Amino acid sequence: MRALQMTGPQQPFELREVAQPDPRPGQVLVKVGGAGACHSDLHLKEWPGEMLELLGFSLPFTVGHENAGWVEAVGDGVHGLEVGQPVAVYGPWGCGRCWNCRQSRENYCEAPGEHGGMGGGLGIDGGMAEYLLVPSPRLLVPIGDLDPAVAAPLGDAALTPYHGIKRSLHKLRAGSSAVVIGVGGLGHMAVELLRELSPARIIAVDIDEAKLRLASDLGAHETMLSDGHAAEAIKTMTAGQGAELVLDVVGNDATLPLAAAVTRVQGDLTILGIGGGTLPVSFFGVPYEASVQTTYWGSTTELMEVLDLARSGRISARVSTHPLEDAPRVYDLLEKGEIEGRAVITPNA
Ligand code: NAD
Ligand code: ZN
Ligand code: ZN
Repeated sequence: MRALQMTGPQQPFELREVAQPDPRPGQVLVKVGGAGACHSDLHLKEWPGEMLELLGFSLPFTVGHENAGWVEAVGDGVHGLEVGQPVAVYGPWGCGRCWNCRQSRENYCEAPGEHGGMGGGLGIDGGMAEYLLVPSPRLLVPIGDLDPAVAAPLGDAALTPYHGIKRSLHKLRAGSSAVVIGVGGLGHMAVELLRELSPARIIAVDIDEAKLRLASDLGAHETMLSDGHAAEAIKTMTAGQGAELVLDVVGNDATLPLAAAVTRVQGDLTILGIGGGTLPVSFFGVPYEASVQTTYWGSTTELMEVLDLARSGRISARVSTHPLEDAPRVYDLLEKGEIEGRAVITPNA
């Protein structure tokens, strides 16, 4: 079968012919219905070999860590799944046995890496291929009547901001504000999730007017270009106080100072973006009692909640679909900022 692979550090992804996997006992083979193109893959492509080694990645591997499809075959001992059943693949693959994994938080597995990487598409073969081998049925969530191509981004582009927002919901009362910096794949879902889950006024920030128009369509109350005036404008909009929640979905040296400047006293500054920036923490550098955190992905039960929101029509990813042979071009467009919402590769369309 064909697969889009990372073959070496700092090399372009390559479409290659690889063997179609067979599920061994306990494993599940998924026919891929959709594999989202996440900006993290562009970071992966830039990281030096030492970084990939540190993360325990084994090269080459097939990229694509936001996946959904249909059960194609199950290994011995797998019960509770039907061939042909549509499923979303939970992305961070933990040990399944530690305390965090048993809380369904495999994103924070205490003994990660036993599968040879962080998850399918992150050091282990992922979903940009016709078939994806999943090590355990524990990592699959049935999606009912959702189209796998539309469900795929929910496993990361929606799950990651869902977790980031949910942990701060107690701070978002009527009259509160929430800022989303970067309205791309994750950010556009963050706007929808804030709209559905909280009474907060949503302020969306991006460098691209088209992304801001999308944010407005999806329910952002205010939109703002990310420039030298953004911090002051947001402070003015929030009566000088700043926002209860700031989600920095870019995380570089341009956005982190903005994020810190518009976080309210006792607010949450949550960094989802892996843009490589640094935020110096000092007494006057961040607002009093503000919490600054990074978050990584979300739990399996949160994925179930996100899928429920989508099935009931309350959120939906803005998706464009593309055949596997176009995947390299899709990543070029993502790099140039020319993808609206999420681009999804559909290898079996
Ligand atoms: P994307 O390319 O789809 O979207 C990025 C958006 O940020 C674009 O709309 C772009 O115009 C905007 N942007 C760029 N520079 C900006 C700036 N200076 N100010 C405001 N907006 C700016 O990317 P994505 O797939 O949504 O991923 C976003 C980030 O989140 C990436 O760094 C990715 O690696 C990271 N990520 C983190 C997790 C996690 O678990 N923490 C999960 C998935 C992705
Ligand atoms: Zn991702
Ligand atoms: Zn674990």
